[in-house]
Amino acid sequence: MTATADTFLNYAHKTSADKELHRKLNHNIGKYSDTVKKGKLQYTELELAKQRCKNQKWKAIANLDKYLVEFEANISRRGARVVWAENKDEALAEIESVLKRVNARSVVKSKSMTTEEVHLNEFLEKMNVEVVETDLGEYIQQLDGEPPFHIVTPAMHKSKEDVARVFHHHLGTPVDSTPEELTMVARENLRQKYTQADVGITGANFIIPDLGGVVVTENEGNARLTISFPKVHIVLVGIEKVIPSYNDLHLFLPLLATFGTGQQLTVYNTIITGPRQENEVDGPEEMIVILMDNGRSALLAEAEQREALYCIRCGACLNACPIYKNIGGFAYETTYSGPIGSVITPHLRGMEKFRHLSFASSLCGNCTEVCPMKINLHNLLVFNRRDSVKQGNFNRSEKFGWFVWKRAMLNRWVMNTGGDSMKNFMLSFLFKKSWGTHHSMIKVAPKSFNQLWKEKYQG
Ligand code: SF4
Repeated sequence: MTATADTFLNYAHKTSADKELHRKLNHNIGKYSDTVKKGKLQYTELELAKQRCKNQKWKAIANLDKYLVEFEANISRRGARVVWAENKDEALAEIESVLKRVNARSVVKSKSMTTEEVHLNEFLEKMNVEVVETDLGEYIQQLDGEPPFHIVTPAMHKSKEDVARVFHHHLGTPVDSTPEELTMVARENLRQKYTQADVGITGANFIIPDLGGVVVTENEGNARLTISFPKVHIVLVGIEKVIPSYNDLHLFLPLLATFGTGQQLTVYNTIITGPRQENEVDGPEEMIVILMDNGRSALLAEAEQREALYCIRCGACLNACPIYKNIGGFAYETTYSGPIGSVITPHLRGMEKFRHLSFASSLCGNCTEVCPMKINLHNLLVFNRRDSVKQGNFNRSEKFGWFVWKRAMLNRWVMNTGGDSMKNFMLSFLFKKSWGTHHSMIKVAPKSFNQLWKEKYQG
């Protein structure tokens, strides 16, 4: 077992017995489920909308090379600079060079999973650059020294009392402050940071090639301030975020809002097509878009798992997953947790190190059922398992067990030989080590179906 798998198991062991964590998660996910139900009412033909989005995303991913080049050409015409980063190091090197060139001392950031992926905050802190998260959930997590717990609601594992304690500890607010009072404190603190920051860094929800723009959706207005106050705006975005055209936004924006938070539409939807133009009154003087691969091409090369690149990061599959709800987001030790994280992480960060995530699933299919992009998540987990085994990552005794099992199953005489106690002994001998540590072993019935059939119909 790898060290990552070991840590995962230890963490999962601990959190799956944490009743208080489960109470908070059930409460927050329960609220989410109620609002999503209401959000879906805006659709008369939800399945059709989902299918159309999936089709458009299929088109985008199938023509990724063409669309990315088109995007670069169009946004460059309005003065933005596009940088292609093959991996995390190249992305960080570009950010470092921009920050050094403009002599940046402080950065404001709007929630972006790609910046989590490259561990940007730690990198900036090492450069002695102050970095402030401006999304409220991320701000809470940053104060508390934790990464996001969930891809849409970073502080989902905290109750309002927990948040009040974090603010009290770090900002000296009264410990019994209400969420409204805490929001006002955060807003006050952040306003100052926007005006002082040299650089604003955001991710993007969509890349639009025909317009040459990136789309950022958010509910707090913080991303708009992050983009427009500082003199430099850097966008760090994964290459898979492309959709074919801005004409597709009417499909994607409501779908993302409905499945992400249960809203009909997210409050602020901004299309950024370049830095401030001559006739414009605000906006950054310089805009850099970093198109980051960081393992996405490896996923694109997989005929079956490629479908995972259609993900719009709504978080619905996390909220539906019984494993995620039991062990929580931190156990995964990855940027993307839950079912989608378990599918993509072995491709983005290495099968050997992260293959265990594809096995940490009951394959109930709930994730596939809720996914607005109709990604066959539970099937993709099985494909990952297959690939992991093909790459030689398997337990030899389990492989031997399956060999014996297959031989026995294909031979009626062998199957009928020996009673249930002999079969139970064999099952225990072959599989106890790999299956029986955390759950009870299968018990074979005293009489096989074949015997019962014979007794009933053949006397
Ligand atoms: S896989 Fe589907 S449900 Fe999960 S985050 Fe992506 S789009 Fe949402």
